[in-house]
Amino acid sequence: MVAVTYVRDIDASRAFYELLGFHEHSSGRADTSAWLALHRDGHHVLLASTRPPLEIPRLPLLFYFFFDDLDAVAGVLGAARVEVTRMGHPPHALGGEAKVLDPDGNTVLLGQRERSPAQPPAADDETSPRFSLLKEAAALVEARGGTTAVCQVGDARAAPCGKRAEVKLADAAGDTVWACLAHADEILVTVPGSFIASQDEQGIAWFLSGRRG
Ligand SMILES: [Zn+2]
Repeated sequence: MVAVTYVRDIDASRAFYELLGFHEHSSGRADTSAWLALHRDGHHVLLASTRPPLEIPRLPLLFYFFFDDLDAVAGVLGAARVEVTRMGHPPHALGGEAKVLDPDGNTVLLGQRERSPAQPPAADDETSPRFSLLKEAAALVEARGGTTAVCQVGDARAAPCGKRAEVKLADAAGDTVWACLAHADEILVTVPGSFIASQDEQGIAWFLSGRRG
């Protein structure tokens, strides 16, 4: 599997992924596009860019990378003046989790699966921040001007929730719903195939409108 992501500036992104231990595998450049294949420990990431750049909304979670020594990676990133936010020690990253932004502003998570014997016992975790994909998505909606939508989910007796909506969810059947964080959480856990939708206005309908007389 090769994970592909579009970036605005291949060279800026190359420098970022090299800090994370990736090395160039191959690359190419043309007048209106460039690509760079990177690898680390058998994992491949393909960066692509276009001129002019594509308008891509920032993603609440682009990649999650695991490392054997999170402190070492955080040290390399810090030395390069990349801001590293510690996110405590969730069950899937007992050795620690950290959040960074890639050069395009997408969130990238770094984790260490197991605590190493050299690490002191974790003094958190009640007070340390935990990463929440929903909260990240809600923050991006807010950063783009927010929404006045009201949560469209009712309770079991169909009484409206009435809380302010924070994220838009969608499914492969084409249904969408604005939801408060609590209801978004419930839908994501209950409905297989539901996902956090971009709130961009231009969707498939916009594309099709250009193809119809
Ligand atoms: Zn609600």
